[in-house]
Amino acid sequence: MLKIKVAKNAGFCFGVRRAIEIAEKTLKNKSKVYTLGPIIHNPQEVKRLEKQGIKILKSVSRIRDGYVILRTHGIPFDLHKKLNENKNINVIDSTCPFVKRAQDVVKELSNNETAENLNIIIVGEKVHPEVVALVSYGNKKCVVIETSQEAKMFKGSKNLSIVSQTTQTSENFNNIVNILSKNYKIAVYNTICRATLDRQQSAQELACIVDLMIVIGGKNSGNTTRLAQICSCKTRTYHIETFKDLKKSWFKNISTVGLTAGASTPDWIIKDVEIKVKEIGDTIKETLGEFK
Ligand code: SF4
Repeated sequence: MLKIKVAKNAGFCFGVRRAIEIAEKTLKNKSKVYTLGPIIHNPQEVKRLEKQGIKILKSVSRIRDGYVILRTHGIPFDLHKKLNENKNINVIDSTCPFVKRAQDVVKELSNNETAENLNIIIVGEKVHPEVVALVSYGNKKCVVIETSQEAKMFKGSKNLSIVSQTTQTSENFNNIVNILSKNYKIAVYNTICRATLDRQQSAQELACIVDLMIVIGGKNSGNTTRLAQICSCKTRTYHIETFKDLKKSWFKNISTVGLTAGASTPDWIIKDVEIKVKEIGDTIKETLGEFK
C-alpha cells in the first residue's frame, strides 16, 4: 500500500494567511478592490480571489479611486509613496512584517551617514518583486547577488552589509557570505524568515525518508521552487501546481511518497493532491504493473 506523508511544516505561512484575510475582509465590505500584481504567488488562490471580485493591476495609472491592497512581498518605495499621495486611493498594506523588517534594515543601512563607502548586498533573485522592492529602499547602494559564482566575480566597496531575500535558503546565503568575507569587511543581516526555514527543514527531513517527493505550489513561487531544489538533492522530486499535474507513472515501484507545499499554497490545494495521490495508490494496487 502506498504510504503518504505530509511535511510537518507545509503550506500557508503567517504572512500569506494574513494577506488573504485582509483581502477577503476588504472584499466583504468594499467595492473597487485591487491588488498591484498578484497578492501572493499562487495562481489558483489568486483566481479564487478574482472570482470574489478582486482585480489585479499591472500599474496604478488606470485606476481613479478604490482600494489597493499591497502584496505580501511589498512594492517599491517610490510607488508606495505615489499611492499614498493619491487622495482618491485607499492603500491597504498587506506586506508581510518580515518583509517590512528586511526593507527597514536596507533603508537604515543606506541612510547611515558613515555608509558612503558601503555596498548593501542583497542575496536573492534579481527579478523577484520582493528583491526589486528591497533595492528601492537602498538609495542606489544595493547590489543583488544570486549565486556563489556571482559572489566570486563581485567587485565593490570595501565594506559590505549583507541582507537576504526572506525566502532564500540558508545554504545559498551562507555560501555567499563566506565567499565575500574573504575579501571584504562584512556585516551580516540574516533576514530569512522563520516560516521559510521551517518549511525547508521539514521538506529536507521528509525527502530523506521517502521514495518520491511531490512539492506543491505556484511555478512562479520562489520559495516553492527552492523547496523542490532542496528535495531533489535527496530523492526524486516533482514540482506541481495542482492534482491535475500528477502522473500515474511517477508512482511505479514506490512505497512512500512525501508531500510538501510552499508558503503560498492553500490547504485546499494540498488536500486535493493528497486525495488524488491516495486514489492513484489504490488504482496501482488493483492494476499492478499497468502504467501509462
Ligand atoms: S514566506 Fe516569510 S516573509 Fe514571505 S510572506 Fe511568509 S512569513 Fe512573510
